[in-house]
Amino acid sequence: MNTSDASLYKAAALLSGEIDEARVRRAVTDILAAVGEDPQRDGLLRTSDRVARMYGELLAGYRTDPVALVNDALFEVNYDEMVIVRDIEFYSLCEHHMLPFIGRAHVAYIPNGRVLGLSKIPRIVDMFARRLQVQERLTRQVADFLNELLHPQGVAVVMEAFHMCAMIRGVKKHDARMVTSTMLGSFRTNLGTRHEFLANIGRGAEPLSL
Ligand SMILES: [Zn+2]
Repeated sequence: MNTSDASLYKAAALLSGEIDEARVRRAVTDILAAVGEDPQRDGLLRTSDRVARMYGELLAGYRTDPVALVNDALFEVNYDEMVIVRDIEFYSLCEHHMLPFIGRAHVAYIPNGRVLGLSKIPRIVDMFARRLQVQERLTRQVADFLNELLHPQGVAVVMEAFHMCAMIRGVKKHDARMVTSTMLGSFRTNLGTRHEFLANIGRGAEPLSL
């Protein structure tokens, strides 16, 4: 493999150490008190603890080791047709409100001598989704990571998601669905390639719903 571990770590911004759950617990207790609640009442007694463990799970992507994630699943093959994994469910947290955005991702690449086991692509999406994100950056990071890892002829990522912060706050928008895409290499330069991908992910797709 000529992809260096260092470049993958750089692409995935790995953090070391555990999240500071004690600190999250204290902060949640403070929020409860600040909004006028009693953190000691029965229903809230264990809330700060639950929330702290929940953030450990929802934000686990900062600490997912990208090299361990893909290491046993890279193969050198002579195959240069488009590989598409569509309808990958993902859950992320918007970094502006720390509210969920939920949707699905469609990922494609055209190999250039190297392929990745298919089950790894949803896990790469997860690694970047389980962070504080904006959808545009999440989309870009998945594409850049695959580009760095596989040096393919091209990579395409389309993500569509509902954003809770748009749905439940302010002017409530019932259709708070956002679509983002990143096209690299041949998906950017070759219109036919891009159309083939977009036609494939549109074919028989259920409209995104919650
Ligand atoms: Zn938001």
